[in-house]
Amino acid sequence: MSGPMPESEARRKREWMIDTQLRSRAITDERVLAAMARVPRERFVAEALGHSAYDDSPLPIGFGQTISQPYMVAAMLEALACEPQHRALEVGAGSGYQAALLAELCAQVWTVEIVEQLAAQAAATLRALGYSTAKVVVGDGTQGLPEHAPYDRIIVAAGAPSVPEPLLEQLAEGGRLVIPIGGRVGQRLVICRRESGRIHRCESMSCAFVPLIGLYGWSPGL
Ligand code: SAH
Repeated sequence: MSGPMPESEARRKREWMIDTQLRSRAITDERVLAAMARVPRERFVAEALGHSAYDDSPLPIGFGQTISQPYMVAAMLEALACEPQHRALEVGAGSGYQAALLAELCAQVWTVEIVEQLAAQAAATLRALGYSTAKVVVGDGTQGLPEHAPYDRIIVAAGAPSVPEPLLEQLAEGGRLVIPIGGRVGQRLVICRRESGRIHRCESMSCAFVPLIGLYGWSPGL
């Protein structure tokens, strides 16, 4: 198949994704589902992969990285419980897809990406789609983004050995952090909440993310 996907077809595929991959697996947050019905996922992958954009799987985005499976994106956003006035930080912009969803759900989004070329591509896609409240920053997101802290919501799209301390420090009172924690190949989603200055932590489903590389993550290489 060649050429961009017609909007009517994309909309149909999004509805199908929402019914067969998300509602069927007990994603119930209507704000998350509505956001996923709006964001054109096919614009965040190479045109040659456009026909697979709504498949029930992650897809390659270059540099050994992937855009996460729609279900995993939805489950993380549901766990994050964003509100319209929130300021959110994402670590691991990748394609920019999840940042676009965060922009649909929150007031302001900063997303940090360590691979410069991916950051540039994500910024261009977000700009082209009019997501002006989402800002892409190049850097090591394990150190957070202190200049705009604190954040009501922090979401990490790569697997870490432990929760990076700077992210907890940059979490606002009443804030939530969702992050995959575990080994280099398999993790569990961990949800941290800051309440009355204390961090409460709970674990959710198992998952398999690419490694979070950086000062408070895994060392590069291997
Ligand atoms: N949220 C993305 C998927 C990201 S995949 C999307 O919607 O497409 C994980 C991304 O995290 C990769 O692009 C990888 O380069 C990036 N990454 C890994 N370690 C990082 C770090 N320390 N800081 C910022 N980004 C990092």
